[in-house]
Amino acid sequence: MTARPAGAGAGVRPRGPRVSLPPVLMYHSISTSELPDPHRVRVHPGRLDRHLRLLRRLGLRGVSLGELVAAADRGRARGLVGLTFDDGYTDFLHEAVPVLARHGMTGTLYVVAGRLGGWNGWDDGPRLALLDADGVRAVAAAGHEVGSHTLTHVRLAGADPATLSREVAGSRRVLEDVLQAEVPGFCYPWGDFDEAAAEAVRSAGYDHACVTGDYRPGDRFTVPRCYVAPGDTGAHLVARLARHHLRVR
Ligand SMILES: [Zn+2]
Repeated sequence: MTARPAGAGAGVRPRGPRVSLPPVLMYHSISTSELPDPHRVRVHPGRLDRHLRLLRRLGLRGVSLGELVAAADRGRARGLVGLTFDDGYTDFLHEAVPVLARHGMTGTLYVVAGRLGGWNGWDDGPRLALLDADGVRAVAAAGHEVGSHTLTHVRLAGADPATLSREVAGSRRVLEDVLQAEVPGFCYPWGDFDEAAAEAVRSAGYDHACVTGDYRPGDRFTVPRCYVAPGDTGAHLVARLARHHLRVR
């Protein structure tokens, strides 16, 4: 999960050109489970299907954050929406990928690289299974972007240089080894970051990174995202997108 504590990112100065991106939606688990969901991170696959159907009706296409940033670089991001899924749960492969495929859309899955095949031990909600290396490769093979969400889902604001290097650069090396491909995307766990964390992401060779919520201003290493709640109807989603757009533009 990535709920951002108040004040995260305070004082971080954008280094590159300010990015002007279409909205980026933030999902976590996509599941039919009826277990308690105290952190409100589970969206039913049927609801995801309705969200994506609505995006299509609005003339929008959901894409990975990598594709969104690349399109923005070419001035071609109009009509796109970023779709991101945090933490690397197994349900992404089994529940979200078929829905995305049905709508011809792609997304970015942010994986906790040191917990492959494990579970979400960083929070006190129900245990949720995380994809193993084969699962991560299957996600990439299905056309989705795999990004890093650190090695162990730690808070990066205030972290010492060794922790930043291990969690940020180390997780990239793990995923590149798993995928045998470059990993350009990063996502700050808990949405928690500061200037040193953003600099660690830049210097580790990533191309873009996203935060949580309506953070502004930002460069491509602090891309804001719009949280999607478990019960969001299409009307809620449109209202969130509109509100988010007003706050981050
Ligand atoms: Zn997370």
